[in-house]
Amino acid sequence: MTQGLCILGSTGSIGQNCLRVVDCLPDRFHVGALSAGKNIDALAAQILKHNPKIVVVSTAEYRDQLRDRLKRGGYGRRIKITFGVEGQVEAATHDAVSFVVSASHGTTGLVATYRAVCAGKRVGLANKETLVVAGEIVMRAAAERGIEVLPIDSEHCAVHQCLRSGQGREVKRIILTASGGPFLRTPLKKFDAITVEQALKHPIWRMGGRITIDSATLVNKGLEIIEAHWLFGAAPSQIDVVIHPESIIHSMVEFIDGSVMAQLGVPDMRIPIQYALTYPDRVATTEKGLGLDLIAAGKLHFGRPDTRRFPSLDLAREALAHGGIMPCVLNAADEIAVEAFMNKRLRFSAIPRLIEEVMRQMSGYGPTNSLEDVLAGDREARDRAARVIRDISA
Ligand code: MG
Repeated sequence: MTQGLCILGSTGSIGQNCLRVVDCLPDRFHVGALSAGKNIDALAAQILKHNPKIVVVSTAEYRDQLRDRLKRGGYGRRIKITFGVEGQVEAATHDAVSFVVSASHGTTGLVATYRAVCAGKRVGLANKETLVVAGEIVMRAAAERGIEVLPIDSEHCAVHQCLRSGQGREVKRIILTASGGPFLRTPLKKFDAITVEQALKHPIWRMGGRITIDSATLVNKGLEIIEAHWLFGAAPSQIDVVIHPESIIHSMVEFIDGSVMAQLGVPDMRIPIQYALTYPDRVATTEKGLGLDLIAAGKLHFGRPDTRRFPSLDLAREALAHGGIMPCVLNAADEIAVEAFMNKRLRFSAIPRLIEEVMRQMSGYGPTNSLEDVLAGDREARDRAARVIRDISA
């Protein structure tokens, strides 16, 4: 019997790649549920092809649009169409689903991902915000139920693979690689003038808007330090970042005997997606272009990240050391800052400064014991970030 898959964020780049992988694994998976925001055209096409039992969109209006679209297209199968966070939870905990791929934007899939873990579903995590804002809560729920949370973030997928060659107590450190983004060699004095178009040109990966900007500021790598901490239970001091512009080595683990294990591969998300879906098995891929040509890759380079030009790495470490709501604050302030940058209301160089300011303002915030606490802190950080931006532009 094949496993029913739920994809939260099915029309995004991870969601689309996930469906390509599933197409190649028909003896293992079928699509049980799809959840998207507002991209009704793409979602309708996915429904026609994959026939899920339940689909979710962001609002009642989009639900009606999708219903009309399917009716006009003569779609004859039984399907439930629902919306919002409650709809996502229903899809992610549905009886027809045993594996949930969490790939929605930002924190929109947080509640559904958490509830999927609580319902005993296997989870593949492409959405790092889930662990950045609620790592303790989500991983505790997973541990209590013996659920494995499998990373789809390429670096963490690499670490997960490297960790299979030793015991937890034998691990010395985790080495996350970072391409360094488009401004790896841009002098600091030019950071003020960086345009949106320049920041959206990632040298290696084709991704959504926010994560591309986050890769240019290295905020993404900071979030990945926090993600690695929760996924692998590593102390922050055990997690290093190394610049590796070729993005051939996706991350490494150093063991106490001096051995370093690395995972290499072409930078293509279909590899980590398939790894998570089929773990602990490895399955031959029938897709083209996933083989690594080492001779063509030629030289691999490594360097130390410059935290003066990319202060977000230190901000992430600070947030992790502070604990509580602070990683959530970092993430929320960054999301608002990136949005303002993309709308040309904030300079590129002001993104880390804005994050730092909101973190400072919320340093006395109380403990976070539940998802409700986290979501309240998230809203407050967003409000504060928006206020700081208004003050700057006034
Ligand atoms: Mg990554």
